[in-house]
Amino acid sequence: MLIVRKIREMQSIAETVRKDKIIGFVPTMGFLHEGHLSLVRKSKEMTDVTVVSIFVNPIQFGPNEDFEMYPRDLERDRSLLEKEKVDVLFIPEKDEMYGEDYKTYVRVQEMEDYLCGKTRKGHFQGVATVVTKLFNIVKPHLAFFGQKDYQQLKIIEKLVRDLNMDVNIVACPTIREPDGLAMSSRNTYLSQEERKKAQHIYMALIKAEELFKKGERNAKKLVEEARNLLSSVEGLEIEYISVVDCETLEELEWINDSGVVAIACRIGKTRLIDNTILRRYEHDESHDEIKDSQGKGY
Ligand code: AMP
Repeated sequence: MLIVRKIREMQSIAETVRKDKIIGFVPTMGFLHEGHLSLVRKSKEMTDVTVVSIFVNPIQFGPNEDFEMYPRDLERDRSLLEKEKVDVLFIPEKDEMYGEDYKTYVRVQEMEDYLCGKTRKGHFQGVATVVTKLFNIVKPHLAFFGQKDYQQLKIIEKLVRDLNMDVNIVACPTIREPDGLAMSSRNTYLSQEERKKAQHIYMALIKAEELFKKGERNAKKLVEEARNLLSSVEGLEIEYISVVDCETLEELEWINDSGVVAIACRIGKTRLIDNTILRRYEHDESHDEIKDSQGKGY
C-alpha cells in the first residue's frame, strides 16, 4: 500500500492512474471499523484502484465539539487497510489541506440547515468543502459513502450534481453491531452502561419501521412512538427525531411512497446519529419487479 502525504503527489498519481484504470475513493476520518471496511470492499469490488483517505477535518467540527479528542490510531488503521489490499492511503496534514490564507468554502443551501445542521452550525459546509477538495486531489471515478450519515450522503450527491463533478457517488448500507447499534468511531466514547443504552436508538427505528409496515403514514405518529421508546431510557437525551424527504431532507407530515426516519441523541458526552429509510415499494432487483413493503408484487 502506497502512503501519500502530499496533495501534489496524490494528484500526479491520480492523473496517471486515471488514464486506463477506474479509481475508487473512500474518504474517512480514521479509527476504522467494519462500516468503513464495507465501503473499502465495495470499492475493491467495483474499481481497479482503491484510494482511502484519513483526515480528521478540523473545519467540520464546532468550537465545542470533539476535534481534539476524536479517536485516532493510524498504525491500526494502516494495518487494517493493508489487509484489505487498499492501493493508496492518503493522509494529509491539516496545514497541507488548509494553508494560513485559506478562504474558499462550499455550501449546499437549505439541505445543510435541516436535521444535524440545526445544532451543528457550519458542519456541512466543512464536509462539503473537504469532500470537494478531496475529489480534486484524488480524482476518483467512484466515491463511496455510508447511509449511516444520511444527510451527509445526500448533501454530497447534490453537490456533485450541482457542480457537475465528474464522479459517481455510491451509497452503501449501514453496518451494525449484533444488537443493532450503528458502527461509529464515536462508539468508543461510550462506557459499558452507556453502550447498553445506545442499542435503544436502533430499537426506536425498528419501531417506526414496524408501524410503517402496518400502514401508518402519519409522520407525527411514527415520531411519537420512537420518542416514547427513547424517553424511557435514563440518561439518553433526544436531540431530534424527524421524518424527512429522502432527497430534499425537508420535514414530512405524511409519508407517501418514502421517507427517512432520522434520530440524533446524546448519551453522556457522546452524540450518536442513525436513520432508516421507509419505502412503500421496494425495488427487488433479483426479480426486477416492484413490490410493496409486504412483499406483494405489482
Ligand atoms: P467517518 O470516518 O465517520 O467520516 O466515516 C467515513 C465514511 O464511512 C462515511 O461515508 C460514513 O458514512 C461511513 N460510515 C461510517 N459508519 C458507517 C457504518 N456503520 N456503516 C456504513 N458506513 C459507515
